[in-house]
Amino acid sequence: MLLAEDNQVNQRLAVAVLERLGHKVRVARTGREALELIEQFSFDLVLMDVQMPEMGGVEATQLIRQREAQHGGHLPIVAMTAHAMAGDRERFLAAGMDEYISKPISQERLREVVRSLGRPAATGDGTPPQGPAPSGPADHGHPVLSLDREALLARVESDLDLLSTLLGVFKADRPKLMADIEEALVAGNAVALGEAAHTMKGALSVFGVEPARSLAEQLEMAGKHGRLEATRGLYEDLARAVVVAEDGLEAMLGELV
Ligand code: MN
Repeated sequence: MLLAEDNQVNQRLAVAVLERLGHKVRVARTGREALELIEQFSFDLVLMDVQMPEMGGVEATQLIRQREAQHGGHLPIVAMTAHAMAGDRERFLAAGMDEYISKPISQERLREVVRSLGRPAATGDGTPPQGPAPSGPADHGHPVLSLDREALLARVESDLDLLSTLLGVFKADRPKLMADIEEALVAGNAVALGEAAHTMKGALSVFGVEPARSLAEQLEMAGKHGRLEATRGLYEDLARAVVVAEDGLEAMLGELV
């Protein structure tokens, strides 16, 4: 199985879940890397993140399907996306993807998708993906951690070593992630802001920590819509909320270990 995913925290979680399901996993960090690996090895399935640097999942899938049109074969490709928006499913299917799942991935949903793609296309139950819950307005100035412990433990299957590893990866990445956001803000680069905040949001989503996650999302949306004037104070709020989130996760681990 090939996992194409640029976000380190999501990557570690997905690899852990896949290995637990008995799959051998190779990892690509961009669509281009995924294409290279597909040329070198044979895979039974590809989990393809939609948003990656260099080449995204949709473009990579289109290139894979073009090759198959000449050489035959059909590699099942499952899109992974952090926010399921209206029309996404159709867009991914039109690009040649077979199915999609929302991130952070759950073992249950993944098993279901692998099973459905492993079978000769039956009826395809067309189960809609479960998008993330709509986020409420950010609570400016009150970085009080909101953390769904049960959901988080379910995501790592109560594996505290895995949770500790994920937190370690996040903490090591955090300075770079925050610096990317800050740099984009300072440069007034909306596109770079959208991308950097998206990466941060993806990592925070794995832990389900609020309000850090929704603050990152607000920065992402401001970047995507080119509304940099809407970001005032958000960076500082996010920086504080992220530290609060890390401390809260550490404390939770400390209690459970
Ligand atoms: Mn990504």
